[in-house]
Amino acid sequence: MDLGIHGKTALVTASSKGLGLGCARALAGAGANLVMNARGAEALEVAAGAIRAEFGVAVTAVAADITDEAARADVLAAAGTPDILVTNAGGPPPGLWSDWERADFIAALDGNMLTPIALMKACVPGMIGKGWGRVVNITSQAVKSPIGVLGLSNSARAGLTGYVAGTSRQVAGQGVTINNLLPGIHDTDRAVSLDSGAAQQAQISLAEARARREATIPAQRYGTIDEFGAACAFLCSQHAGFIVGQNILLDGGAVNLTL
Ligand code: NAP
Repeated sequence: MDLGIHGKTALVTASSKGLGLGCARALAGAGANLVMNARGAEALEVAAGAIRAEFGVAVTAVAADITDEAARADVLAAAGTPDILVTNAGGPPPGLWSDWERADFIAALDGNMLTPIALMKACVPGMIGKGWGRVVNITSQAVKSPIGVLGLSNSARAGLTGYVAGTSRQVAGQGVTINNLLPGIHDTDRAVSLDSGAAQQAQISLAEARARREATIPAQRYGTIDEFGAACAFLCSQHAGFIVGQNILLDGGAVNLTL
């Protein structure tokens, strides 16, 4: 399917690895030029170079911590007025509800709520000016079904979800759609880190921790970054203009919901 975004510019933050990389690759595959970002310059350059070579699109890579205001300004300056924005950042660490202090919540809110909001605030006016734009925020299945050890994530992402619910309906009439993609477990470094924690806690191997988690998913496996990227690219496509303010689970059926 032609997604109708050939030649558009997409800013994809936190995209040298994992789900962000999956989105960047799928958008490049549809012909979008990219601005990619991550903190580590080396992995970012490798990812950007591979995308240039495979898809022949222009890729600008900006090594920066997207949660830092000054660094974020550099990323936004490189992106100019993007047509497409995919927001992403690392997730907060796991822990116990009774251990988290104010500073832990502030860090989580900065990373997973206020950073995507700042990115939207910076990019959406340009999209409105052009009468066309697409925003996809990578959030989490924790928005629909809380994950106990990820209380910081549950909290921060709920705040972003509320913001998107209202804001998406305010800008839809100007050709801009904002939606959230909610990953369940996907095969990325983040999954390895979560499984390592579970393995340590249960005194089992990493492979056993993964097998136990896979057994809880109706699809009986982890998602891939290519599957995730394809869904993201569709939401960023010309065909998705009537999808507004939605929270779309990509979780292999893990969240047991009727609606
Ligand atoms: P990942 O494999 O660890 O990749 C994270 C990417 O983001 C890397 O490119 C990393 O590069 C970059 N990054 C992290 N923090 C950043 C920052 N402050 N500024 C700029 N770049 C940053 O993680 P993932 O699995 O793709 O997860 C992406 C998001 O989805 C996270 O918020 C995670 O909590 C959420 N999520 C993931 C899953 C899953 O199963 N994978 C499930 C639910 C939710 P650098 O380290 O070099 O910066």
